[in-house]
Amino acid sequence: MLIFKKVADLRQWLDRQTRPVGFAPTMGALHSGHLELIRMAKRDECIAVASIFVNPTQFNDLRDLEKYPRTPEKDAELLIEAGCDVLFMPPVEEVYPPGIDLTIELNFGVLDKVMEGEFRPGHFKGMATVVNRLLDIVRPHKLYMGQKDYQQLSIVRDMIRQLALPVELIMCPTVREPDGLAMSSRNVRLTPEMRAAAPVIYQTLQWAKSALEADVPRDEIKTQAMDKLRAAGLRPEYFELVDGVTLEPISTKGAILSLNDTGMGSSIVACTAAFAEEVRLIDNLVLA
Ligand code: AMP
Repeated sequence: MLIFKKVADLRQWLDRQTRPVGFAPTMGALHSGHLELIRMAKRDECIAVASIFVNPTQFNDLRDLEKYPRTPEKDAELLIEAGCDVLFMPPVEEVYPPGIDLTIELNFGVLDKVMEGEFRPGHFKGMATVVNRLLDIVRPHKLYMGQKDYQQLSIVRDMIRQLALPVELIMCPTVREPDGLAMSSRNVRLTPEMRAAAPVIYQTLQWAKSALEADVPRDEIKTQAMDKLRAAGLRPEYFELVDGVTLEPISTKGAILSLNDTGMGSSIVACTAAFAEEVRLIDNLVLA
């Protein structure tokens, strides 16, 4: 695996390649969820490029940025095992050259206003800016992102559409621990008590799926889900049932789902964020 820290060196190498490039941007502290993105790129016969960049502009909470786990040597070993071809690990000034404002100012409508948008102001602007910048640097044919960050994926999809970027977005299903907890770099920060409690998130998402199938009113599902998370000792910020494409909250039974041109079909997705002590966890499940 080649490791590049400078944009110019990465570009020089990529410009000599003929095979398609598959790209998985990450913030490091890698786990099997990240590695699955690389494996998918390899299965698609791409040159697999991973980036590790803890993007300061997408952290609305400075303590979260400071405490974000950083394990670069272990990450490199894991990427090699997964068959990654190139690791791009730029310093901040390579991604954001001083004096150049690369901020993305797109109108994402509802997509960046609800859920994470409400509780993490500025997060998606920072995320869209860095993904756009990294796409501009790597110029991949395929972009691999996880369903774990469903709202992020929806916004990146919309950014690709609005900017007509020449890249195909590929969604990787959420990789979970055996007890259902969605893999996350933040899981290493959980206390043993919170690690034991955290699987309630996935259990509650699954309960919501069966409740929806049993025609429990959607407002009732949301209220009961929040109660279940609280009863397990978590502090939920939201538990929403949303249209899988528009991310509009669906509260009334029989709400008309959007017909869309993304080829995704309509769906209802349950999305949630909850604090396990100081650690903020998010997860989602397609319900219908
Ligand atoms: P992060 O390092 O948290 O920014 O995540 C980098 C990429 O890995 C994003 O596209 C995430 O959606 C994806 N990812 C993170 N956790 C998982 C998981 N458990 N399963 C699948 N993809 C994931």
